[in-house]
Amino acid sequence: MVDRHPMWKDLGMDLETHDQLCAVLPTAFGDVYLSQENRPEGMAFWDMVVADVHGIRPAELIEEQKKGRKVFGTFCTYVPDEVVVACDGIVTGLCGGSQFWVPEGEKHLPADVCPLIKASLGARLGKTCPFFRIVDQIVGETTCDGKKKMYEIMAKDVPMHIMELPHMKRDVDVARFAQEIALFAKNVEEVTGNELTAEKLAEAIDIINNRRKALARVYETRKDPDTIPISGTDALLMMQIAFFDDPVRCAEMANKLADELEQRLVDKVSVFPAGTKRILLTGTPLAIPNWKLHHIIETSGAAIVCEENCTGTKFFTNLVDDSATTLEGQFQALAERYMKINCACFTPNEARIQEVIQLAKDYHVDGVINQNLKFCTTFKVEAPALEDALEEAGIPVLNIETDYTDNDAEQLRTRIGAFVEMLGE
Ligand code: SF4
Ligand code: SF4
Repeated sequence: MVDRHPMWKDLGMDLETHDQLCAVLPTAFGDVYLSQENRPEGMAFWDMVVADVHGIRPAELIEEQKKGRKVFGTFCTYVPDEVVVACDGIVTGLCGGSQFWVPEGEKHLPADVCPLIKASLGARLGKTCPFFRIVDQIVGETTCDGKKKMYEIMAKDVPMHIMELPHMKRDVDVARFAQEIALFAKNVEEVTGNELTAEKLAEAIDIINNRRKALARVYETRKDPDTIPISGTDALLMMQIAFFDDPVRCAEMANKLADELEQRLVDKVSVFPAGTKRILLTGTPLAIPNWKLHHIIETSGAAIVCEENCTGTKFFTNLVDDSATTLEGQFQALAERYMKINCACFTPNEARIQEVIQLAKDYHVDGVINQNLKFCTTFKVEAPALEDALEEAGIPVLNIETDYTDNDAEQLRTRIGAFVEMLGE
């Protein structure tokens, strides 16, 4: 593998500390991923990317920056990639998914903040993630309180644009978000030096819609009630890397994988034995390399067939209407699509509950596991309502609260094992 140390040094990274992360990641990946059997051949692409996760894509981004392109770092599925792509910018997801970055984050944030927020700040301020060093600008958003306040700290270290996200979904809120997208577009024009036109935005809408369609095709194959053509663990990796990858290549690779999975359905090639219990996982996002719950669930006699979260269906469900021909109409169409995401930051958020129930039926699941990252208040407060609704619909549910450490792994294994066993009764 190429020695990336010169590149990381140029990025001003803390090489010694970063080497510690590089030392543990391959083992973690090997334990979780390479131990699986009969994986689709198409996963070779994502294996290759993750084997050099701080090398391949960062090197590509730096090459593009040399040509004058700008890189925007984001933390939330409400940020419309289309606007950046239309101005010839590049988007990369930045959410931190490793405990490795949490202690650095805790130097600047209270301990009782969700690990995703602490890890994200820790990765930037600790200089231990190349993506955080490369970005020309970060795009924050007013979603949960922890993130909002974290952005204030991060903004002292890196250029930041914050998008105001309404927390209700009335027509007036959607119109307000359309205005906010227009303001974001102005910012992107300034940073990239490129003018946004309706033609360019139409092309970008098409690119991002195509990515959504490709990812949805992979998920579609997971609905088959008899054959499970891909593990949830593998599907999660595809989703996590979708946040970092070039959207056209992401669509191409996902379509290739979907071709293979559709053939697997014809040939009845399953990665789990017949009768394996099918689980829908809902709740907070699973940023790379957070594979903890997937690994525990899929080595406890169950298979995850759907993720209803931001590293799952929320990322690709609903296309942007591409019929508008003016920027104003396109901003409205973008706002309408993005405001359909059912995040717990919204009130009310009844649509998420209905969506989980519908997905549970569509994916023929035996049970739902609702996972909450520790200290995520919004999703935690919503959990009892979701639990009641699922029980009423006759769908068993298990609520889990966890973080990025392995301290609770055995306890989780026991609880999940008991839940799966109960599903068999
Ligand atoms: S859970 Fe909510 S705040 Fe977090 S990424 Fe998803 S939409 Fe954004
Ligand atoms: S998991 Fe919850 S607390 Fe953490 S960033 Fe997302 S919405 Fe905020």
